[in-house]
Amino acid sequence: MCLKLYCQCFAGQLVCSDACRCENCYNSAEHGVERRAAVRELLCRSPHAFDAKFKTEPHPLSSSVRARAQAQQNARAL
Ligand SMILES: [Zn+2]
Ligand SMILES: [Zn+2]
Repeated sequence: MCLKLYCQCFAGQLVCSDACRCENCYNSAEHGVERRAAVRELLCRSPHAFDAKFKTEPHPLSSSVRARAQAQQNARAL
């Protein structure tokens, strides 16, 4: 189904691609209605479901920010 956070694509607010070997996938453009409904329902239950996901897995573009945070973490550990 891919309309739950267990699906990395859905959790990242992306549609599934061929690389994602899922069956009966609803996380696609063809199932936009079902997909939007699932997103709305999920946000209804946990408004920050996607936010939390983004915090643990920063966007590649923010890798410099992550590197800085990592450096701070290392400095604290030492
Ligand atoms: Zn997927
Ligand atoms: Zn899928």
